[in-house]
Amino acid sequence: MTTVKEIVQTFKLHPSYVSNGAASLSKRWGCSIEDIKEAKLLLKYEKIKKQSNEISQKNRKVLVKRLFIDIETSPNIGFFWKSGYEINVSPESIIKERSTICVCWKWQHEDIVHHMTWDKNQSDENIIKKVASLLKEADETIAHNGDFFDIKWLRTRALYHRIPFPYRIRTLDTLRKSRSTFSFNSNKLDYIGKFLGVGSKIDNGGFSLWRDIILNNCTDSMNKMVEYCMGDVLLLESIYREMHSYIHKNTSFAVLNNKAKWRCVECVSDNVKERHSSATVMGVIKRHMLCNDCGCQYDISNKTFEQFLKRKL
Ligand SMILES: [Zn+2]
Repeated sequence: MTTVKEIVQTFKLHPSYVSNGAASLSKRWGCSIEDIKEAKLLLKYEKIKKQSNEISQKNRKVLVKRLFIDIETSPNIGFFWKSGYEINVSPESIIKERSTICVCWKWQHEDIVHHMTWDKNQSDENIIKKVASLLKEADETIAHNGDFFDIKWLRTRALYHRIPFPYRIRTLDTLRKSRSTFSFNSNKLDYIGKFLGVGSKIDNGGFSLWRDIILNNCTDSMNKMVEYCMGDVLLLESIYREMHSYIHKNTSFAVLNNKAKWRCVECVSDNVKERHSSATVMGVIKRHMLCNDCGCQYDISNKTFEQFLKRKL
């Protein structure tokens, strides 16, 4: 009898087997189709974890609680008389409210991409409880379109379940930064990932995946959804890593680590220098700083700059 662990090992030794169908492999190796599918899934998770590990190595210097997060949602289900363009569907047509299918998250200082799916009754109550505690714990939360979609969605679901949810959340929205700072052909995560050569979204097979999860509670489809969502979280972190030294930061990790305000706001290094200064018409001087270690650019006040000049060398 071949165990799932042994199947995973065989896949690792002979990667060409992975593309073979579960049915033919189960016949050849005398094990169940489910075991083959589970082994294939474990292999994918291991791959994702390995990628995630590589990303995290660079971020170990300072323990900052930066959270990368993504959610997958289900649509409303309702009655409608016909399909077509510009159809008005009133809220009275809804027979089942939309919900949160799964959430995936990764701490910058950790290697693992975590996930949680809705329960067997398709309730997202536990997901919302978990996310509320994560957002409370995080010093900064990064999501693509997080400010206008994910955070508002999650807060609305929290209100529905009467789960306490943080009012103020320190965020960095990579979609907002993309729109305000760059001129990409598209601001979609997939396009930016490909443009920067750091990866792309995993193909999810389209709406049939949602249908299989919502209407059939299909485990395989749910696993695929989780894998898709995990991939998005890793892509999000990779994109942030590439663009971080080009964007205006929202949080000073120097201050959060009780270090001087002039230190690098990203990696807290003291290996920083003044690039140039500017003055407003009101006479307020700003000093533009550059971190020699991570390339981060940030502004400090003239008063803070004086402290920088007085630092012990
Ligand atoms: Zn730095």
